[in-house]
Amino acid sequence: MNQRCDRNRKRSKRRAILCPVHGCCLDSVSQKYRLYADTVGQLQQRGINRRKSLILLTTQTAVPLVGEWLEAFWCDQCQQTKWYHIKKAQQGAFHSSQAQIYEVSLAPTEVWQQATGVIHPQGNPSVGEFTKRHARMSDHPNIKDFQFQI
Ligand SMILES: [Zn+2]
Repeated sequence: MNQRCDRNRKRSKRRAILCPVHGCCLDSVSQKYRLYADTVGQLQQRGINRRKSLILLTTQTAVPLVGEWLEAFWCDQCQQTKWYHIKKAQQGAFHSSQAQIYEVSLAPTEVWQQATGVIHPQGNPSVGEFTKRHARMSDHPNIKDFQFQI
């Protein structure tokens, strides 16, 4: 673990969200964006059986995903802001006394499309609409590169 991470860890109640490349702590630069599933496949990937998935999607067109979200982070070592798909890792009782562990992966376009209010025009995925709506994010030039990083 590098020194920056140790420094960060001294801050109170810091979430253990680490850069998948460097294993260092990431600094959040956005709010959390909730993710929704709108296909049976997306729900099945999360351990919900087909029947239940169908019922959920019949009663609600988009089903909120629990313990998953989209958030932008700055990595000191990547020297870049990137969008990540964050997922709370399942923990058994054995680990209950330890800090919450998160699975961190670069957010693919598919995940973007599941996020609240981030709807891409058909066949033309772009973060343009997103950055317009969240103007303060446009201060981060790397956001524009998002679609090339996936
Ligand atoms: Zn990094």
